[in-house]
Amino acid sequence: MIVDGHNDLVLHRWRGEETEHMDLEAARRAGFAGGFFALYVPSPKVPDPTEVPYALPLPNPIPHERAARVAEALFACLCELPVTLATSPADFQEGRVAAIAHMEGAEPIAPDLSNLESWYERGLRSIGLTWSRRNDFAEGVPFEFPATPETGDGLTAAGRELVRASNRLGVLVDLSHLNWAGFWDVARLSEAPLVATHSNAHALCRASRNLTDAQLQAISHSGGVVGVNFAVTFLREDGYQVPETPIAEIVRHVDYLVDVMGIDHVAFGSDFDGAVVPEELGGAAGFPKLVSALRKAGYDDEAVAKITYRNWLRVLEATWR
Ligand code: ZN
Repeated sequence: MIVDGHNDLVLHRWRGEETEHMDLEAARRAGFAGGFFALYVPSPKVPDPTEVPYALPLPNPIPHERAARVAEALFACLCELPVTLATSPADFQEGRVAAIAHMEGAEPIAPDLSNLESWYERGLRSIGLTWSRRNDFAEGVPFEFPATPETGDGLTAAGRELVRASNRLGVLVDLSHLNWAGFWDVARLSEAPLVATHSNAHALCRASRNLTDAQLQAISHSGGVVGVNFAVTFLREDGYQVPETPIAEIVRHVDYLVDVMGIDHVAFGSDFDGAVVPEELGGAAGFPKLVSALRKAGYDDEAVAKITYRNWLRVLEATWR
């Protein structure tokens, strides 16, 4: 069984685009039991950088009212998918797909949090404080290589309130895309295990979106988890967008994260339909290829079970109410 930290299927459905990675029926047959389904209010698309180094500017903020309208439409698309909305770890079962409604960027939440509880009642169970931009709560990292996440200010007062309210309700707070100061603000404030749903090891790939060893250690000490991102630009040492990147690059990050954090803190966070991933993997139907690569690299049954679903389920159990 596979539980995964991130996909952008909903955005494609909303835009009426073909999906490249997330054929739900093929995914289900390949053992995909679901995971985090992003409700991402998109910034205007810019071309992917073709040269390294690169430093894209931080996209403009998106006003709350507009983001709230788009999020409604995205959520409606999620609800039309043949999935179960996940509100308990027990919702993840072999043979069906359970979707965690995950806001990637908190712009649809009112700065006074007045609509947070109604989102919760409708099934929202995870919020990434930022995508890679600035909002009323926090600031994200711009896409840069090579660069660290050390840029910009920490959480606003509203951001700190959102973390407290999320803890209270049992909504997971996702640290992927958040900048350095914001990360440590959440680490100090949050009572829940720290989670980065789709990020990699900065020591192996110096993209601003990846996590330094200090961040990884803070996550493991909190009992949290990092979902390994399959985006080739966050995997490769050279940062280039090369579809021919082998599955072994994913295993390289898993190995490193397990070394630094321990086997209980590493999981998948594919970024399917949100990024260029190794073409050898293809999409969600390729999960078994990745699992067999892990077995060949020496991971036994128990280790594989932890990486593929048990670590995610443990963190959801500790976070949700
Ligand atoms: Zn993302």
